[in-house]
Amino acid sequence: MTTLHEQTASDMPDIRRSLDHYYMVTQTDAEGLVISVNKNFLNVSNWTPKRVLGKTIWQLFDDSEQAQSTIHTIWEQLQAGKTWFGTAQKQKRTGETYFSNLLAVPEMDANGVFEQALFLELDITEDIQTKERLEQIAFIDIETGLMSRHKLEALVNEMIGEDKSFSFVYLSIDHYYTLKELQNGTDETELTQAFANRMKRYFQDNPIARIGSSQFVILTPFGDWYVQGFLDFLEQQPLYIGNEALPLSISGGIARYPEDQKSYVNLLEAAAMTLDEVRQQGGGKIISLSAASHKVLNRRSLINRKLLTALDRNALEVVYQPQYDVAAKQVTVYEALVRWEDDELGTVSPDELIPIAESNGLIANIGGYVLTEAAQLAVQLEAENGSPHVSVNTSVREFSNQPMKDKILAILQTASCRPGQLELEITEKFAFQAEEEQSIIQQMKELQDAGVNFTLDDFGTGYASFRYMQYLPISKVKIDKVYMTSLLTHPKTQQLVEGMIQFSKTMGLYTIAEGVETEAQFDLLVSMGIDAVQGYYIGAPVRAEELHSQK
Ligand code: C2E
Ligand code: CA
Ligand code: CA
Repeated sequence: MTTLHEQTASDMPDIRRSLDHYYMVTQTDAEGLVISVNKNFLNVSNWTPKRVLGKTIWQLFDDSEQAQSTIHTIWEQLQAGKTWFGTAQKQKRTGETYFSNLLAVPEMDANGVFEQALFLELDITEDIQTKERLEQIAFIDIETGLMSRHKLEALVNEMIGEDKSFSFVYLSIDHYYTLKELQNGTDETELTQAFANRMKRYFQDNPIARIGSSQFVILTPFGDWYVQGFLDFLEQQPLYIGNEALPLSISGGIARYPEDQKSYVNLLEAAAMTLDEVRQQGGGKIISLSAASHKVLNRRSLINRKLLTALDRNALEVVYQPQYDVAAKQVTVYEALVRWEDDELGTVSPDELIPIAESNGLIANIGGYVLTEAAQLAVQLEAENGSPHVSVNTSVREFSNQPMKDKILAILQTASCRPGQLELEITEKFAFQAEEEQSIIQQMKELQDAGVNFTLDDFGTGYASFRYMQYLPISKVKIDKVYMTSLLTHPKTQQLVEGMIQFSKTMGLYTIAEGVETEAQFDLLVSMGIDAVQGYYIGAPVRAEELHSQK
């Protein structure tokens, strides 16, 4: 006869074995770092133990906003000692998304402190794909009976074809995942169906589509007042689950056809952007595309359109900002920064330009152009005054899946520039991606062997700067300019900066401070042991011609 005592899966070998047999199992520590995975997990996700152990659990989720919000919720629950169950979007090593039914269980220590987490998953991608295929055929969302997004697109195109004016209304339930948790025991489907019914009652014959788990689109010829009335309607007739009224917050964005946008994709994008704005202001409102965001959108698409021709016509420019070496008492490096002055667009700053170029692929052309210019300058400066280096910013998009190393070395060779005269600045976003793609680190190492130096830019702004310093082939770090504004006024900032300098030294790295604008900042940094300084105090970015005349 067996005696009864508390049992957990780990002291019941049979259960442990069955779990292992049927489920993908992942275990993390309290920081969310993966400490073990089983075979099933490796088979489905294509990750290898070497790649996945020590990674954060966040990185194993798809990088869509929805998936990231799911893991955020899961993690909050786990830390509070609660179990979570639901559907999650995960990412395979190949970047491909898979769907799983996921059970996340916290393990607490004797004092009730969160110690480890266990994730059990079943791959349900096929079910979801079948459902999507059915929806595509039926043009209908099976759970709610609303139109699917395929039907929506077809209908919008039809209405545009007939030149009917209408409002494209994008609605979203705020804090959907928290809400689901709140209503313990209520499943997602019930909540979504109840909400869909409210929409049908209010919007009646106006077409309604479901385009995401908690995202909906309504097409209506009526104005903003009518759409906004839906929020009052919901307040008067709240959703009930059991006997309790649900505290529901809805946000929405409206874009008009034809006044605001003229195609399905643009209407969707504009309405989604407006929705984002509403959410940033706290949510709970439906507003129409503001004049401001309208302008941003138009400017974006104009930049998109004109960039290729600008590159063709050599309309982009490069300016150079000096970096002063404290020990050598002279400028030893010039950082290349791209500039674009356009008649119609005015000044397009790199902060605006680079993200657009990254998304349309033209970053490779910009990178090639800036590097070519910088390499030529390095050669000229060497002949004129010693051998200053040039430093060029790079985006990870340029390295991803491309033989970037060969391209860089070829450009240097054409310009007769020694690789040792070139430095490349990378950001944390770059480092993060490099961690994922071994080929990037490989290319960096080969470039380093050839003599190129790497600088970790914007140091101190990300959450893992220190980690990247350990395994990327970098020789310099550049402390971000955000620290300079409060350097003289906040003792905390001073301590942080001093700590970063000390730490870099311990790692054998050369440390630069950027954004230095005053003598007082400069003196303080020098007393802290900084190796080099960059900023308006030393010099603003200038054209190459001005550098030659300066010497
Ligand atoms: P970054 O690499 O951190 O560049 C420093 C930015 O700070 C530059 O802005 C520079 O003009 C500005 N700056 C310099 N000294 C001071 C100062 O004393 N005080 C203040 N407040 N600001 C100062 P810029 O040129 O607008 O560049 C913005 C960002 O765009 C750069 O940040 C860099 O990440 C990116 N970028 C610029 N050119 C390129 C490029 O050719 N390729 C890529 N991938 N990115 C680039
Ligand atoms: Ca930089
Ligand atoms: Ca920087």
